[in-house]
Amino acid sequence: MSGRLSGYPKVVGRIQRELVEGLVSHAYLVLGPPQVGKMVLALDLAQALNCEGPDVPCGRCPHCQKTVALAHPDVQVLALLVDQKSERFHQVVSIDQVRALQRDASLHPYWGKYRVFIIDGAQRMSTEAANCLLKTLEEPPPACIIILLATEENDLPATIISRCRKVYLRPLPVSQVERILLEQGTAPEEALLLSRLSGGRLGWALSARGETRLMSARSSVLGSLRGGLGGGIPERFHLAEEMAGLFYKDRSALERALQIWLGWARDLLLVRGGFNQGISNVDEEQALNQWSERLSNKEILAFVKAIISTLECLERNVSPRLALDALMLQAPHRGADA
Ligand SMILES: [Zn+2]
Repeated sequence: MSGRLSGYPKVVGRIQRELVEGLVSHAYLVLGPPQVGKMVLALDLAQALNCEGPDVPCGRCPHCQKTVALAHPDVQVLALLVDQKSERFHQVVSIDQVRALQRDASLHPYWGKYRVFIIDGAQRMSTEAANCLLKTLEEPPPACIIILLATEENDLPATIISRCRKVYLRPLPVSQVERILLEQGTAPEEALLLSRLSGGRLGWALSARGETRLMSARSSVLGSLRGGLGGGIPERFHLAEEMAGLFYKDRSALERALQIWLGWARDLLLVRGGFNQGISNVDEEQALNQWSERLSNKEILAFVKAIISTLECLERNVSPRLALDALMLQAPHRGADA
């Protein structure tokens, strides 16, 4: 058992033993922080369940290949759908989606040994959808495995949780993420940067590979931050306005931008402590060196705290513009940009 991609060989190994011993559970609940690699693990499991190779999941047999390409007829992923008109994600996994699952789950596997259903964002199931799924979990059809992915166990109904075998995923060591990226053919420089930025969240690192849009968005977020730190009050309020605009377009985009700022500010502290080898933004080392000379530990720490409190304010639904204005007033300020 290689646990090829997920980096969680122990978890995949345990389930493989359950498979061999005929004790495989009909439902698993995979829990862990956003983008930690829950879907990667679920696809590893789906591969393992249908793999025909000698060392499952082999990653090479037709079942494994079709599974990772999301093209296996017996493996289905349920996730939030995008509304055709508004192009926004629906808020919940709907009852219609779960009804379709129920219907398909009662059929024999078409090609593999098992039908596997992966429900991404299981905490976003509507109450009707959860009740409908419960019926399937109570009377599981043979050769059908349901894998629920969720960030928090508390967000799911207890009746669902009690019918699943739980698997907890924590972020991996950064070096392990880097090794997996290298094995996947990522260039060494990119593997180093992405593994550091991922903070051990393999799912994020894998999805960020070759995503030039994502990386250029990050560059522009960092550029605005440096502009803000180097600008006067009008520039700062302008930046707050721009960031608030981000929120109204896509709430999570603002949160991501603030997380990028937070990572950069933490790196500043590391550089100030002479620990350059520990920074996450490895491609920013030169700018970090320059800014670390302009700002004191006290100023940077205060900024870190202000970003964290802004993130908390947003979670409490404080007006984003107000929260961002306050943040920009608390941000340290030094002359022109590096
Ligand atoms: Zn295989």
